[in-house]
Amino acid sequence: MKERLEKLKHELQEARLDALIVSTPENRRYLSGFVGTAGYLVITADAAVLATDFRYVEQAGHQAPHFRVLRIGADWAWLPKLLTELGAQRTGLEAQNVTVATYKQMADALKEAHSEGPLTLVPTQGIVEGLRAVKDPQELALLERAARIASDAFDSVAPAIGPGQTEREIAWRLELHMREHGAEAMAFDIIVASGPNGALPHHRASDRALQPGDPVVIDMGARFDGYNSDMTRTICLPPVSDTFKRVYDTVLAAQLTAVHTIQAGMTGHQADYTARYLIQKAGHGDNFGHSLGHGIGLAVHEAPRLGIDSQARLEDGVVFTIEPGIYITGWGGVRIEDMAVLDKGRPRLLTTARKQETSRA
Ligand code: ZN
Ligand code: ZN
Repeated sequence: MKERLEKLKHELQEARLDALIVSTPENRRYLSGFVGTAGYLVITADAAVLATDFRYVEQAGHQAPHFRVLRIGADWAWLPKLLTELGAQRTGLEAQNVTVATYKQMADALKEAHSEGPLTLVPTQGIVEGLRAVKDPQELALLERAARIASDAFDSVAPAIGPGQTEREIAWRLELHMREHGAEAMAFDIIVASGPNGALPHHRASDRALQPGDPVVIDMGARFDGYNSDMTRTICLPPVSDTFKRVYDTVLAAQLTAVHTIQAGMTGHQADYTARYLIQKAGHGDNFGHSLGHGIGLAVHEAPRLGIDSQARLEDGVVFTIEPGIYITGWGGVRIEDMAVLDKGRPRLLTTARKQETSRA
């Protein structure tokens, strides 16, 4: 945590900020260790304060030993007082997490207390998120564990999937297995999208019963000690149609090509194209309407993004998904998704559930 704070202080200097108010829950946890659901970090070059209300004061003291805990009430009177005490004039806030209403309350409180000199709030974007993109060894261990829980659940549940079962039943079996093997929560609601439902990339799990010949897209992830996994496999109930074989083989080839071609130094755009190129060549460019992947960690979707217009640079230690898909309205879809860490310049897969074998279930 100390190292993370040092890096943040460097970023503040670069952004010419005297202080940063951190309110995004994942950022708060990343920098302080505090997992409570309410509170603000106020960080300057030589101070780290965690402001929270009476419900969390004791917990904050235990979980965030590098922070001074400040008990606050419902109004914002504490903010100008603290910023004045810390000598912070230009203070950043996380624009993506602060509502217009909250911003107005903060600004009003600063204005009311302006006698001590000008205090200004500066909207910022992605400062802590940028630090979070590169994982340290401790984070990697948790991500590997979360990935293993999801992989094991799929390998254990998938062989018994058959016609007549509902999407919801299958989702529940997967959830049960993950929870019994250490998941503290699901990373997101499990997607089981059978038959035509598979054409909707974010369909959840319904009461639809699986039919013979259905493609079934299963997208799942576990949360372990705050860190998430995210993995998709597609299976097909027999009889397996030629369409499924063709679409599946195209997506698999695109996915494996990306795994073997992506390297450190590429932009998110270049990484995306390694897979998109093959899907376009197969005539399905219009059926792959989302990005190739996204960073993952304390949040399921975080930096860097692997997509058509992403200029993010991939470097060692980033953890991201590689998830090409083809979606055909009325028929269904195929998506294959793995989580990888860039290790010595190359992707190393963290999710390991069976792939090829399940395509002909
Ligand atoms: Zn997913
Ligand atoms: Zn994903």
